[in-house]
Amino acid sequence: MPDFMEETAECNMKIAVLSGKGGTGKTLVSVNLAAVAGHSTYIDCDVEEPNGHLFFKPAIAREELITVKIPQVDEKQCVGCRACVHFCNYNALAYVNNRLIIFDDVCHSCGGCVLVCPESALSESDKAIGKIEIGVAGEVNVYTGILNTGEATGIPIINRLLEEGSAEGRVPIFIDCPPGSACIVMESIKDADYCVLVAEPTLFGAHNLNMVYELVKLFDKPTGVVLNKCMNEKNPVEEFCLDKSLEILGRIPFDHELASLNSNAEIVVNKNEKYRELFSDLLETIVDRVERESASHEPNRVHEATAGDQERHRVELEQVCGEKVYGKVTADDQEDHRMELEQVCGEKVYGKVIADDQEGHNAEQEKASGINDFDEPDEHCIEREGANSEQGYASNEMEGGAE
Ligand code: SF4
Ligand code: SF4
Repeated sequence: MPDFMEETAECNMKIAVLSGKGGTGKTLVSVNLAAVAGHSTYIDCDVEEPNGHLFFKPAIAREELITVKIPQVDEKQCVGCRACVHFCNYNALAYVNNRLIIFDDVCHSCGGCVLVCPESALSESDKAIGKIEIGVAGEVNVYTGILNTGEATGIPIINRLLEEGSAEGRVPIFIDCPPGSACIVMESIKDADYCVLVAEPTLFGAHNLNMVYELVKLFDKPTGVVLNKCMNEKNPVEEFCLDKSLEILGRIPFDHELASLNSNAEIVVNKNEKYRELFSDLLETIVDRVERESASHEPNRVHEATAGDQERHRVELEQVCGEKVYGKVTADDQEDHRMELEQVCGEKVYGKVIADDQEGHNAEQEKASGINDFDEPDEHCIEREGANSEQGYASNEMEGGAE
């Protein structure tokens, strides 16, 4: 593992690599990032066409069949009411010639038809839709999902892959997502800490990038772009990134040697020092962005604050509510105070609520009403005491604060 990753507390970060279409360089980026990261996990969620294993050539330690539930009918009990047919949104059921026909390939295993059948004529059976393979290649744990041809959805395989891959412990995880922006991609990025969008330097590339950009925006994921196949020409994707204020994390050159190694299923960072440097720099940039992103959410992570931070929050909170606060101060406490403050000033309050805010609004309200309600700390304390007991602020247990 490179030094900059050992130093970081975010070494179990999940990085999703996406692109608007296949062949853009998504696997090139995710495979080589995992390879330069050293001890890491690579998860191939491109279950319709997994090819990361061709690069890693892992020794397979375990395989697992992935099954889904498919309805089956007991014809003796079926009265032909068609309630199940009308219920199925995927047209996986038809009642023809006095028989219920079940189209397994389009069934999405929602289980609804079984529930709506008034005669309990439907039950469920397992059907294999694919498998996952778990292997090791050097320091990299390789997880591969394989969907059987013609199956309706690979989501159950992706869920199992992510569940298994995340159980590896404190190693960075690189998720090679399916191409495009369908629900299977959403499933792959839902737990990611950072999304890397790979794009080609063409108008078509900018269009595809826009599709995945819209998707990660929906999930509010921190995002950066890697430009692949870069040449010394005008690049429409750069203009797109500028327009959307998207950061360009790195540029991979349009390079004959790299293309040749990659098309021969070689991990380029293991073949040439200049490529190792390129992907190492890219990884360092991504790690830095993930750390920055975590730091920017620090106010919501009071549980991870140091003893000093805890004490500062406690003092602030005591100043705001005019009474002693026992136990650990949490983000929820901040939220309670935000709500109080919003009630006092009758407007939305953003950012961290501090004692000065409360004082400022008290003064405003006093001025408007001509009454100094807040100069009576004893009365205010009595009210707050009741409220705090309900909210569990007061506690006989005094905690150290730091976790
Ligand atoms: S399980 Fe759901 S998708 Fe499958 S046939 Fe029944 S209703 Fe349709
Ligand atoms: S809901 Fe039950 S009884 Fe009605 S058609 Fe479907 S399987 Fe037959």
